[in-house]
Amino acid sequence: MSRISVGDFRVTLVRAGVYHWDGGTFFGVVPKTLWSKQFPADEQNLVRLAFNCYVVETGDHTVLIETAGGDSMDDRARGRMKLPPRLEPLPELIAREGIDPEQIDTVINTHLHWDHCGWNTRVDNGVVQPVFPRATYYTRKGEWEHAHLRHPRDAVSYIDTNYDPLVDSGRMKLLEADAEVIPGLGVHHAPGHNRDMLVVTARSGAETFCFFSDLVPTTAHLTPTWVAAFDLYPLECIDTKTRWLGRAARDNWVCGFGHDCEVAFARVEETQGKHTGFKPRDTVA
Ligand SMILES: [Zn+2]
Repeated sequence: MSRISVGDFRVTLVRAGVYHWDGGTFFGVVPKTLWSKQFPADEQNLVRLAFNCYVVETGDHTVLIETAGGDSMDDRARGRMKLPPRLEPLPELIAREGIDPEQIDTVINTHLHWDHCGWNTRVDNGVVQPVFPRATYYTRKGEWEHAHLRHPRDAVSYIDTNYDPLVDSGRMKLLEADAEVIPGLGVHHAPGHNRDMLVVTARSGAETFCFFSDLVPTTAHLTPTWVAAFDLYPLECIDTKTRWLGRAARDNWVCGFGHDCEVAFARVEETQGKHTGFKPRDTVA
């Protein structure tokens, strides 16, 4: 179990499966000779990644950040990602951490790529139902609009049944500005990976937990220039990352990452050099 206290809040990592993806896409223009030292690739150039979700228990609220990739992939996709025949449902994984999934009253999707909102909904006798029936779901309005643009570059990343039925029923709120969705729980516009991604902060007492999602998908991406090939705005990604990691280092935040298989939590520290860089410290597996 990977769990920390953040002031009066309790933050738990729930890894909803491990998948594989082409290493080159995750590290963009970084030469493989560099990234493969930190991230070993297999014979097909695939690297191991996790679907990371975090549960924040504030005392009054239970918040789920991300809902992973779901389990509706076809056999080809399963083969490509080296997924098992069945992935365990996210509510069961949450229950195994001693948290009642029925208590989740807030779900945040940092963005709507399939691997971040896959357990938002399930299909019951042909009807799409929320997996977390008590919850209000949140994402950014611009992201939902972008999903419907069906741009050839990233249309494949969006599966409308993960969010449209929630928007239609009023369960999903589309945010147009940064907000405190419940006391202490902030969502912040952080463009780069795409136009409208959110970074999430949970603050209690003098402590802050920050979930970077795909802005910093793994601790190997703490070097600001190590951005993924699928990030739509790489220069903006570097700037956003440098700004947010700078705050995290200065204020000693505990951080969580979208797809790290090994590190559940880490603080970050600025490193000296020609360009601003960061490295992890006090990591929790
Ligand atoms: Zn993404």
